[in-house]
Amino acid sequence: MKIGIDLGGTTVSAGLVNDGMEIVEKTEQLSCCEDGAEAVMSRMADMIEALIKKAGQHPVSCIGLGCPGIMDRESGTVIYSNNIGWEQVPVGQNLKERFRLPVYVENDANCAAAGEYLAGAGRGCSPMVMVTLGTGVGGGVLIDGKLYLGKHGNASIFGHILMEKNGRRCTCQRMGCWESYASAKALLEMAKKEGVFEGMEEKASGPIFFEKLKKKEERARQVFDKYTDFVAEGIADLINIFDPQCVVIGGGISAQGNLLVSSIKNKVKEKIFFSEMDTAQILCSLLANDAAIIGAANLPLVRRQTIQHKAKYMDLP
Ligand SMILES: [Zn+2]
Repeated sequence: MKIGIDLGGTTVSAGLVNDGMEIVEKTEQLSCCEDGAEAVMSRMADMIEALIKKAGQHPVSCIGLGCPGIMDRESGTVIYSNNIGWEQVPVGQNLKERFRLPVYVENDANCAAAGEYLAGAGRGCSPMVMVTLGTGVGGGVLIDGKLYLGKHGNASIFGHILMEKNGRRCTCQRMGCWESYASAKALLEMAKKEGVFEGMEEKASGPIFFEKLKKKEERARQVFDKYTDFVAEGIADLINIFDPQCVVIGGGISAQGNLLVSSIKNKVKEKIFFSEMDTAQILCSLLANDAAIIGAANLPLVRRQTIQHKAKYMDLP
């Protein structure tokens, strides 16, 4: 048994994951990050404690934590996370001392990608690219079953590729990032601006937008068309870069399933370079919110090992 934790700005969920990659016990609480890192860590520790009890005589072999932000994977320290308000928090060390188990800390979007690769829509695909459309846009890539982290651990920040020079201002302060066009938040903002919620502005929400879309309301349809076009532009770029076997779309909006995917699929096909050849499958997340828990629990399986180059190269003149 392994324990996976998904710590977000609003909720923290933890699950007991068996060797078949299934969550056999799950618990969820509000993260209440405003109480400070110590309080959040102690709340997580209580959740872990309860899961270890539930595991009974099945030993728990490790704990994996997925959270937003930048982390030092070796020490298990969250260096900076805007969403949960953490700076230099040695969460890995803290949990390790308390439970005497190996603890792995990883970016939450990478954990979700790992989960979809191991047990979800992208099972066994290589390369597998995951794009999460939520408050922001995140992502993760697995190549031959290993998370691709880049040299400094900062790869797959897909939300901040450029969609429009000098375009909408992004949370990162750059202008025109993909996230400002393709996030669920951007969809809602576009819908508000185009008057989709006219007369009911205070009720504006994702579910109401999709209700209107399903009723074939013209303004909702136009906004959705524009939105999926932005999403498809970015996905086409990712396909041109990685030539993946599949692209998995996650985040709250992926609950729309075929409605979302079929529209994106057609548009991507028109935009990719090798459009006449076989190309990546575009799929919706299968595990939804459980992806990050399953991925976090199995981080030892998908962590990229540093390749030691032992071969000696000839000196160049
Ligand atoms: Zn940005």
